[in-house]
Amino acid sequence: MNLKLFFLFILSLSIAHCQSKQTEIWEPVPEIIESTDFSTAPSDAIILFDGTDFSNWVTWGNKPPQWIINNDGSMTVVNGEGSIQTKESFGSVQLHIEWKAGTEGLDKHNNQSRSNSGVFFQKNYEIQILDSYQNPTYVNGQAGSVYKQYIPLKNASKKPGDWQSYDIIFTAPEFKNKTLENPGYFTVFHNGVLIQNHVEIKGTTTNVGQPKYSAHSNAPIMLQDHCCIPISFRNIWLRKLD
Ligand code: MG
Repeated sequence: MNLKLFFLFILSLSIAHCQSKQTEIWEPVPEIIESTDFSTAPSDAIILFDGTDFSNWVTWGNKPPQWIINNDGSMTVVNGEGSIQTKESFGSVQLHIEWKAGTEGLDKHNNQSRSNSGVFFQKNYEIQILDSYQNPTYVNGQAGSVYKQYIPLKNASKKPGDWQSYDIIFTAPEFKNKTLENPGYFTVFHNGVLIQNHVEIKGTTTNVGQPKYSAHSNAPIMLQDHCCIPISFRNIWLRKLD
């Protein structure tokens, strides 16, 4: 290579370097947090249930929950005592929750009657919790469905008695002057498997009729007391995303 070609080569390299610099972004630097895996709360998480007490939860009637706290750091629904909700209201969140379908009464219950529960975001948008291990039901109401809106992409259910996990990214809908400005979205992992991939929430996850939005502000996260084989929960935490 002669000298002229060599300088042209160096010049082209430095131009490319300058051009690549134009698309580098150095700020803001993401906050450093401590994290380990999907199940252990990272350092910036809010712990909603650590197995000790219901201090972050109330009933619909704003009373202390009457569900059971077990010696292994889990809680178990007492069917008939009502759903429970967080004292705090939330917008967009990343939520981790572990749940275990009960094993008593499997011979008597099937379909929607096996450990039916749900985790509701802003009290309106339900990710269905159900024992969906060898338990057929309408598919937009099986475990991991956005209830009556989106069928899960896969059935990653474990058998009753085994602990399972949901990791849910909920983007809250936005309202302006009582009308919807931006819809909400769900992304859900069930036992580490992607089962809802950024699906647009169509409105309140109602059991009857078509979903529609009605304006609201931040609201609690709710765990449903539904029916009929009691379900247990443990290790519930979230990270605020707004
Ligand atoms: Mg339910």
